[in-house]
Amino acid sequence: MAYDYDLFVIGAGSGGVRASRLAAMAGAKVCVAEEHRPGGTCVIRGCIPKKYMVYASEFGRALKDMEGYGWTVDGARYDHTAFMDRMHREIERLSGIYARNVRNAGAELVHDRAEFVDPHTLELKKSGKRVTADKILIATGSWPVMPKEIEGIEHAITSNDMFHLEDVPKRIAIVGGGYIAIEFAGIMNGLGAEVSLVYRRATVLRGFDEDVRTHVHEELKRKGVTVITHATPTRIEKAGAQFTMHLSNDESVTSDRVLMAVGRDPHTKGLGLDKAGVKRDEDGAVEVDEYSRTSVPHIFAIGDVTNRLNLTPVAIREGQAFAQTEFMNLPTVFDHADVPHAVFAQPPVGVVGLTEADARKKFGKIDVYKTRFRPMKAMLTEDEDRVLMKIVVRAEDQRVVGVHIVGPDAPEIIQTTAIAVKMGASKADFDRTCALHPSIAEELVTMREKFVPPELTPVE
Ligand SMILES: Cc1cc2nc3c(=O)[nH]c(=O)nc-3n(C[C@H](O)[C@H](O)[C@H](O)COP(=O)(O)OP(=O)(O)OC[C@H]3O[C@@H](n4cnc5c(N)ncnc54)[C@H](O)[C@@H]3O)c2cc1C
Repeated sequence: MAYDYDLFVIGAGSGGVRASRLAAMAGAKVCVAEEHRPGGTCVIRGCIPKKYMVYASEFGRALKDMEGYGWTVDGARYDHTAFMDRMHREIERLSGIYARNVRNAGAELVHDRAEFVDPHTLELKKSGKRVTADKILIATGSWPVMPKEIEGIEHAITSNDMFHLEDVPKRIAIVGGGYIAIEFAGIMNGLGAEVSLVYRRATVLRGFDEDVRTHVHEELKRKGVTVITHATPTRIEKAGAQFTMHLSNDESVTSDRVLMAVGRDPHTKGLGLDKAGVKRDEDGAVEVDEYSRTSVPHIFAIGDVTNRLNLTPVAIREGQAFAQTEFMNLPTVFDHADVPHAVFAQPPVGVVGLTEADARKKFGKIDVYKTRFRPMKAMLTEDEDRVLMKIVVRAEDQRVVGVHIVGPDAPEIIQTTAIAVKMGASKADFDRTCALHPSIAEELVTMREKFVPPELTPVE
């Protein structure tokens, strides 16, 4: 049977754009449908605007630090509208580049929502047109969770709305302890808001190394964020322009904004996956094999909608692997191990590889090297930030299996460290690399003493 397209891609985000461009460049007839704006979460309401907001918020502290270096800054003030205007102009520019790149590669881009009618047919909701395709790629991303069971949840906003605030709230309550909640806590704190963070567990950043979690948790508190743990919201009440959030521990928080950052769901609502016979797992993510193939052999899924490792570069690499396998005769499986990632907290976190606990579980015997110190730049300022660096080594062959950094430029440092880890570098390789002095990163190659957990320290 002749189809309208060789490939139909649903979603022009990080993964969908990469896959459609490569497939089109390989000669396939490709159409991509995007219901919002090309670029997806990362460009429009994720990584990019988030990082611009981090930059904006860091200048406040930089101004204070400058005094330690002899500068006097008179009359400095922050204009939120001016910043937001500039940021959104840049987002618009980037979104335009995404759209142009898709079209320049020879793919068709339609501004419409696509839903399955049957395994080979999609309906474009705005135009009402039906199209058929030989292969279909689901690249619809994820969407913020809004817990319906909380009374008054309609008064809360999500990370999507944080990029459209007209002003910086005087007080903001943030619910969640994952990286998005932590990043916005830092941003709002840096921009001068009073921040309360409500989290259901004891320490933020579940899934990260325990030392990283504790370090970030303590830094948040030291910077003035009120962290309320072991609590969940039960009810949000609006009175005039302010909100009172009642918590499960009988406390309450009154603020001018309530941000829910309690996770993201795979974006499959209304997509008609059942009509196509595509299976989902218990969390609603599209089930795929290592080639991103779903339960239906000609339908594939990549990126956040598959809930494997929800990061932009991962969605891009999964999209690339799919296009290479299906359209370039180059079967490719993306390796999800040792993907570096960051939390743009203040100070930021950079991680590659396994946590100490996971490495211990996986390999049994491991060596740990860690150090905490005040960075040189802070010595002349009132900044009390500490850097944490930790290297996790498999004892058997001394291979470095995890590196964890909290401190200035941690994401930049970890990107290059990830090359060494991916190559299988040993602790001895780190040790024989000469230090670059003076830098924060030099500590990575000068840590010599194994960390001995207190319970193993000989009692004198
Ligand atoms: C606040 C925030 C900060 C983040 N920060 C980082 C970071 O610092 N680093 C990092 O690596 N990752 C970060 N991420 C995660 C990153 O944005 C995602 O992992 C990435 O965008 C996933 O790409 P994707 O292609 O799977 O989906 P997306 O980029 O979300 O693209 C999916 C697209 O599909 C469209 N779509 C959905 N359904 C349909 C339909 N039926 N028809 C047509 N179009 C449809 C959507 O409109 C969207 O444009 C962040 C996310 C958030 C929310």
